[in-house]
Amino acid sequence: MTNEQKVHEFGAPRGVRLHIAIFGKRNAGKSSLINAITNQELAVVSAIAGTTTDPVYKSMEILPLGPVTLIDTAGIDDSGELGALRVEKSLQVLGKTDIVILAVAADSIPDEFDLQIIQLALERKLPILGVITKIDLSTNSLTENWFRQHNIRFCKINSLTRTGIDELKQVLIHTAPKDFLPPTIVGDLLRPLDTVILVCPIDAGAPKSRLILPQVQVMRDAMEAGAIVIVVTLKELATALANQKATPKLVVTDSQVFAQVSQIVPPEIPLTSFSILFARYKGDLNEFLAGIEAIDNLQPDDNVLIAEACSHYPSHEDIGRVKIPNWLEKKVGGKLNFTFAVGGDFNQDLSKFKLIVHCGGCMINRAEVLSRIARCQDARIPVVNYGVLIGHITGVLERVIQPLIELKKDN
Ligand code: SF4
Repeated sequence: MTNEQKVHEFGAPRGVRLHIAIFGKRNAGKSSLINAITNQELAVVSAIAGTTTDPVYKSMEILPLGPVTLIDTAGIDDSGELGALRVEKSLQVLGKTDIVILAVAADSIPDEFDLQIIQLALERKLPILGVITKIDLSTNSLTENWFRQHNIRFCKINSLTRTGIDELKQVLIHTAPKDFLPPTIVGDLLRPLDTVILVCPIDAGAPKSRLILPQVQVMRDAMEAGAIVIVVTLKELATALANQKATPKLVVTDSQVFAQVSQIVPPEIPLTSFSILFARYKGDLNEFLAGIEAIDNLQPDDNVLIAEACSHYPSHEDIGRVKIPNWLEKKVGGKLNFTFAVGGDFNQDLSKFKLIVHCGGCMINRAEVLSRIARCQDARIPVVNYGVLIGHITGVLERVIQPLIELKKDN
């Protein structure tokens, strides 16, 4: 399976990032609206109609949705040969849109162009939200009545004063498609009374007297799904497997012992890792899989950022400080320049890096992991997480992502 096929298997990016596209006629106040929502001078605003040409993309966070992409499009009433091309590009955006915003200026009258957007959104079963812009310019209720006639919820906005922007964000949160909600960690792969074995090494890198958060969270999620959970270290794994009367439904391992565990667990038993589960739950597994190519393209002297979302005292076997750098340099056959970002240090210029390797992010929320991925995407720097990198380097990646596709289909 190629990386592209793996990416495709996990479907569209809808599950991880909401795309909100703003449509409307020229001079409907779309660019001012996007600037008011993002609180930035992102889009060029001009009184001259038709200033926006190609669609403009902006990533931002709207809590509790997490990162969203706002798309500013050219006027749908643009004319002439070039205008028609711009309209075509704008309408192509519908293919990647989760929510349509139709902006209509308060001092204009909705017409067939606006109606066309409503029809196209309905054909695609996309939620649509009306926004009446420039409410300082007119008090007529023509546009309000027009939205009511077409059963479209609307907000009234003055982008200059940001009046109505908070209400618009609230409405957006409630308009988000239900399947945008994050998946469970492992519960959707299991059925009640399935047995799941968790392999949790207790080595020098493990904290004293406790399990780490991802292990505890997977355990809890599996228990909530009604599964029987068995927890072992690598040493007891073979015995635990031999003792089971029924074949375990799934084995989840710490990715640092992928190589050994994949030798012990027979190929017919699905195997994955805590960090692969967390890449799906908290991050964007598709994006991490797409980053694999950059591991193979690394050259000696390249800059690599290793990002850990929390600070901890690094041991001599530390995964981020020691093991991953060693594995990567061995693969590349030379020295690499590593930068280590801990906690909030991620807010740096990412452009010099050839690859970003992020930890499982168990101590930060999904929105933050996604916004870090969005920053990598904005800087066009490939990003992988620890589990995907280790799976690739140890040659078991295909096996450990397969349960996320196959077991999900079964349930
Ligand atoms: S946030 Fe990252 S570095 Fe901290 S414990 Fe979780 S996976 Fe490890």
